[in-house]
Amino acid sequence: MSGLRRDLDLAADWVEAYLDGIGDRPVTQDAEPGGIRARLPESPPERGEPFEAMLRDLDEVILPGLSHWNHPRFFAWFANTGSDPGILAELLIAALNVNAMTWESSPAATELEQVTLSWLAQLLGLPADWHGHIEDTASTATVAALAAARTLRPGGAVYASQQANFSVEKAARLVGLEFRPVEVDDAFRMRADFPLDDAAAVVATVGTTGTTSVDPVAELARRCGEAGVWLHVDAAYAGSAAVCPELRWCLDGCDLADSIVVNPHKWLFTPMDCSTMWTRRPEALRAAFGVERDYLVDTEDALDLKNYGPALGRRFRALKLWFVLRWYGADGLRALIREHVRLAQLFASWVDDDPDWEVSAAHPFSTVCFRHRTGDNDAIARAATLTGKLFVAPAQLRGESIIRLAIGNARTTEADVALAWEVLRECARAQ
Ligand code: PLP
Repeated sequence: MSGLRRDLDLAADWVEAYLDGIGDRPVTQDAEPGGIRARLPESPPERGEPFEAMLRDLDEVILPGLSHWNHPRFFAWFANTGSDPGILAELLIAALNVNAMTWESSPAATELEQVTLSWLAQLLGLPADWHGHIEDTASTATVAALAAARTLRPGGAVYASQQANFSVEKAARLVGLEFRPVEVDDAFRMRADFPLDDAAAVVATVGTTGTTSVDPVAELARRCGEAGVWLHVDAAYAGSAAVCPELRWCLDGCDLADSIVVNPHKWLFTPMDCSTMWTRRPEALRAAFGVERDYLVDTEDALDLKNYGPALGRRFRALKLWFVLRWYGADGLRALIREHVRLAQLFASWVDDDPDWEVSAAHPFSTVCFRHRTGDNDAIARAATLTGKLFVAPAQLRGESIIRLAIGNARTTEADVALAWEVLRECARAQ
């Protein structure tokens, strides 16, 4: 047996054991800053080491210092999934190690990216004729969108909701546009009646980070269309819900926007990182990012994806998205999303039924914001997380402390959500 084959077997055994036992591990722990680093050598080894040595240190030093995002009771931020097809694809991606910077640099990688983006657009009900490609993160996709917008309106401002993810403000800063937060209504939706005179772009959010509220995209698209302002939609989390016809309303109006980002690495069972973006105006992306040198000329009659985003080097992310879409099928994806929405609604009903607790915001997807009416919610969330049985993130909403429970892992069951509720109530009682 070759050395690689032996190590692949070891890695396969490790992955299987890790995933089989993940639910029995503490989701996270109370690590001290610097504690893990102190257990690692200060300098690299002079001689190469066997794979077993790395696996041993992974088990003994690294694992105890990780938050297990693949744990079924990871409910913090937006929970996600390193699914079986995603794990397998990542192995093959590294084995292939192709760079999809130009068509010529690996033709099938570019063409598969086009196919998977077209498949996903069909699943989400997005326009069939838009340009689509993959970025590492929604942060980068939003940088790309705003850089494209700036080619049409240099020097304007970027308007987004006060509830928009901070990646929007960062992207605006990065491309040298001023960021202007817009007030939200009672349902945490961006108001649509702000002046657009000096706007370069508006970013609407479908599924805000705080409460998963959905901005009035159709109304914003109408106004932006009239004013000639770029509308970018950040559907990083909730966009995936549109695979279910009954949830497709969340993307209403997006076909009138200029660009949209959806993160399969959030709620579409694809491991970090994979962020999909589409635009009706690829020529503006090209104006922002197209560049040619004599060492890397463009391919005639083919798509060179280096011209559509900030990065030159591009991982073969399409392979894992392709595997995920094929492994689950549209039916399997819908079933998982529906189950997550069902579990979130069930959890919210338990909160509603308990007079000591209240739901803090509408919860159309798989995330619930809630609070203990009289307790210290920060302390409850922290105490619950310190039990190791679950991981929830505290947050602030309109000056009040709340707790967010975000369901997004394919392994999460009703029993996991019930256990989380039990632990949270115990922690509140123990205060
Ligand atoms: N947009 C929203 C609504 C988010 O919630 C997040 C992250 O949670 C982002 C954008 C940023 O995503 P990424 O980490 O892919 O840059």
